[in-house]
Amino acid sequence: MMPSMPPATFVAQSQIGRGLFAGEPIASGTCILEFSGPILCLTEVRAKGQAAANALQIGVDRYIYLDEPGRYVNHSCAPNAAVVEDTKLVALRPIAAGEEIFFDYSTTVSDGWTMACLCGTAECRGLVVAFQLLPEKLRRRYVILGQVQRFIREQVGA
Ligand SMILES: [Zn+2]
Repeated sequence: MMPSMPPATFVAQSQIGRGLFAGEPIASGTCILEFSGPILCLTEVRAKGQAAANALQIGVDRYIYLDEPGRYVNHSCAPNAAVVEDTKLVALRPIAAGEEIFFDYSTTVSDGWTMACLCGTAECRGLVVAFQLLPEKLRRRYVILGQVQRFIREQVGA
């Protein structure tokens, strides 16, 4: 496999709707995919109703309405991947073939959007909220690791 080739992934049923899964072992630090899709403002995202969950926030009033398969990546409070440089999904640890891929949605949200979390991990916060509402220790950790959207880091002065 060429180093620049993204690893194989597949979409399948997970415990919480469809999810994105590793199609082969993925090494820690690998860029799994780059999120892409049309750019929308918040009003346009909200007009999508339930499908608003398919949007990735990349600015104060700027969202990517995610193409497939990026839109199928689910949230976990104990994720095995993270969004870096606003649009790149990167593995945080080795991910086994067949394992579902998750990132922490709170690292990309600054508007009033919330979602009940069913991730079931020991770290589960119960509710997915804007980054600013996370416990301070967790916020600091995500900022240090570079796993927070740039516009949010600017908003919180990090
Ligand atoms: Zn959770």
